[in-house]
Amino acid sequence: MAGRVQSPSSINLFRQCPRKYFYQYILKLVTGSNIHLVRGKAVHSVLENFFKVNISQIHSENFDFELRTLLFDMFRQEWRKSKPELEKIGITIHNQIYYYNETKRMLTNWFDGFVGKLQGLMVDRGLVEGFKYLTPITEQYYESSSHKVRGYIDAVHEWAEGVHIVDYKTSSRDKMSDDYMLQLGIYAMMYKQKHGVAPKKVGINFLKFGEKFIDVDDVLIRDAEAACEQIQFDTQSEEKIDYPKKQSGLCKWSTGQCDFYETCIKDN
Ligand code: SF4
Repeated sequence: MAGRVQSPSSINLFRQCPRKYFYQYILKLVTGSNIHLVRGKAVHSVLENFFKVNISQIHSENFDFELRTLLFDMFRQEWRKSKPELEKIGITIHNQIYYYNETKRMLTNWFDGFVGKLQGLMVDRGLVEGFKYLTPITEQYYESSSHKVRGYIDAVHEWAEGVHIVDYKTSSRDKMSDDYMLQLGIYAMMYKQKHGVAPKKVGINFLKFGEKFIDVDDVLIRDAEAACEQIQFDTQSEEKIDYPKKQSGLCKWSTGQCDFYETCIKDN
């Protein structure tokens, strides 16, 4: 059987619980939405669209106010578009307001960091060139046919001094977890395979806290390659018995449960 094409999320899901992987990727059981997915989608759209602003129409003397206004207009529009989905998943109005405000604070945090960098660049380059320099290639599709993995990278900065790859996260902690390290390693590997040169740095922009980068080295890429090879080996079977349950706090918690909890508890 030809191997399955994986993604950083599918590999991390398998590591979290092989049975969950079985339900999601082999049985293809329907997964539910949740506030974190809805919010993530809205934020990613805003950060993608923000860089499509026609910067030549922004006034240098008032750029902070004008760009900030545009950013939050985009956010309001995206949030409005998400309303039907938020209602479908049963988020109360009270909680919708809470998440709206929390997400707005994340975008404020991101924007403050962005403006800081832009101001520094404007000294030598001016607004238009400074903005262009900071504009990444967004939502770029990458794949590795040799390692059977694919994914969309949130932001790629192809700077002369070295490529930087960034993933945006709305997580409540800014810990560079093993999952995130693997995701970044896979991105670095796919980038290197496509362009023949590895990115210099990969990192997470924890929108609530700020950016964290790591240098790309051979070990990071080798670990990613090994993980991609291992998942091919681990997912050859289509039999449930080969995907053991790995029970943890992610089965059920105070405010939610695994998408497959009800199926899983009845299953052997
Ligand atoms: S309920 Fe727990 S053991 Fe079952 S699939 Fe979900 S995470 Fe795995």
